[in-house]
Amino acid sequence: MHLYIHIPFCRRRCTYCGFCSSAGLEHRLDAYVRAVCAELAALREDVRIQTGRLSSSLDLRPTIFLGGGTPSLLSPAQVGAILQAASALVPLEQAEITLEANPGTLMGPVGRSPCATSLAYFRSLRTLGVNRLSLGVQSLHDPTLRILGRLHTAAEARQCVDDASRAGFQAINLDFIFGLPGQTCADWATTLDTVAAWDINHLSLYSLILEEHTALFAQVMRGEVDLPDHDTTAAMYELAMERLAGAGFVHYELSNWARASRGYLSPRWPSGEIEVPLPVCHHNVAYWLNVDYLGVGAGGHGHIYPERYANLTDLDAYLAAVQQGRRPVEVVTPLSPSDLAAETMFMGLRLVEGVRFAHFRCRCGVEMEAVYGEVLRELEGLGLLERTTDAVRLTNRGRMLGNQVFASFL
Ligand code: SF4
Repeated sequence: MHLYIHIPFCRRRCTYCGFCSSAGLEHRLDAYVRAVCAELAALREDVRIQTGRLSSSLDLRPTIFLGGGTPSLLSPAQVGAILQAASALVPLEQAEITLEANPGTLMGPVGRSPCATSLAYFRSLRTLGVNRLSLGVQSLHDPTLRILGRLHTAAEARQCVDDASRAGFQAINLDFIFGLPGQTCADWATTLDTVAAWDINHLSLYSLILEEHTALFAQVMRGEVDLPDHDTTAAMYELAMERLAGAGFVHYELSNWARASRGYLSPRWPSGEIEVPLPVCHHNVAYWLNVDYLGVGAGGHGHIYPERYANLTDLDAYLAAVQQGRRPVEVVTPLSPSDLAAETMFMGLRLVEGVRFAHFRCRCGVEMEAVYGEVLRELEGLGLLERTTDAVRLTNRGRMLGNQVFASFL
């Protein structure tokens, strides 16, 4: 029901990035796409997957998520080939199909997309069935974008959003980072107010995580770049909650906001303008509900209880394994019932509505109270958790101390 496809290619490494991806290997994309298609075909024969079940009690659509890396380096023909292969596992016509796009691969002087413009590229994606775009904008401040090593300018990001909209995308997410070098709360407020006026229905906002072994980490250590302190970053998060609520966005997960708007047509209701459910990212909601999903591609991760697996990250090793008909898996982690219960709690508590008792029972086969009664009472006593009639969720204070709460379930 849920399929993640990793595209570990980037045109250039961003200075803060710790993800699994390589720059300058785009000439190998064709071979990579053939391998991903072969891995998908092999998964179709996997008996465990054929007998898999949707373990959520919630109403989730099937999903395919092309993430990276930079999936927008794929040509429309390559995206089409992958979706064709994926259709053996996930029913495309009902699915939320998301592609992560980097405006820098589509716009401006560095743009060398197989399509002449982002508008043409997005139109091709729509024709192929991609119905959700996630654009990595990160900042609207050009000097900061340069420090981050991004390829685009703020104006090009804006052009990309407009083109996505003109191409017919009604589900558009933008990724932003806050707590950036030199950023103030006033800068961040301006960014929030600006993007809230754009034709988008989803925002993912993450505070900068300074990863060791990145160029930005080294710059900060050498004192060349200053980051806002923790209190300022926390204030930026609160500012996002306040400003986006005022702009009609619903905060549904710690880092995610969605805005229902007239004209957003869910495939479940294809005939006309109607009030529709909140356009959350169904694929990510599947992660937060801790349901089973497949991950393919080099560095892809999957979770089919009772195990979690990580594919080979090395591109050559991945291609060789697939060519030899082997499963390209590097690590398999067995999961116990208590792992499943803990993950269902700390992933689910990221959702603002919390973890429903019925969902926990459905996923873990046991009542939440029986496993965590004592922990829940302790966290409630600290003012970090609260119960509703059908769920347990973080309080506002708990949201600010999420990691402390999550650790209680481990
Ligand atoms: S485009 Fe994304 S995956 Fe690639 S280097 Fe930049 S942040 Fe990392």
